[in-house]
Amino acid sequence: MEFPRGQGNPKMLPLKEGNKVIGVLIGEPFGWNQHFNPVTKQSLVCSRDDNCPICTDKKEKSSFRFRVNIIVKEDGMAVAKYLEQGWSLWCKLGEKAEELKANDKKLEQYVVEIRRSGLKTYMVVLKNEMTAEQVNALSALPLNDLQANLNMISPSLAPIQTDIQDESPESEMEPAFEEEDIIF
Ligand SMILES: [Zn+2]
Repeated sequence: MEFPRGQGNPKMLPLKEGNKVIGVLIGEPFGWNQHFNPVTKQSLVCSRDDNCPICTDKKEKSSFRFRVNIIVKEDGMAVAKYLEQGWSLWCKLGEKAEELKANDKKLEQYVVEIRRSGLKTYMVVLKNEMTAEQVNALSALPLNDLQANLNMISPSLAPIQTDIQDESPESEMEPAFEEEDIIF
């Protein structure tokens, strides 16, 4: 008799401290706020309004999370996985995208290496610029539904608000769990 723990979503690419991933970020990222219960190890999407019982009743803060599709090589094939990380990497990728935009380039044109050296310390390195043909070939790959398997409080989860940029970095509380521990 076996009682296996959840192995997480095989499409989610773990990025633990000391690790790195290499791939091509693709599509629009999806961001949301969530509450994480360290006891049940369950996460719940926060509606960021009065309808959220955890904000209103428990007065607990939610933390920002986001997912983004990333094309990686697996067994010699290009496949779409996704990263799920927090505010720090969101900002880092945002900075890089802004830098590139100033030069009429886009992040999705590059193979990137994302290194995580600490809990909230990331480095984003551009590896190779791809040709237009390569970008087109990758854009034909099926991507992951980034909103799949999120535990919603309210079905009307609004996509990320642009005013999220005004939030202080302190509002990000990195949940104390490993990516694999998320139960979907
Ligand atoms: Zn909430």
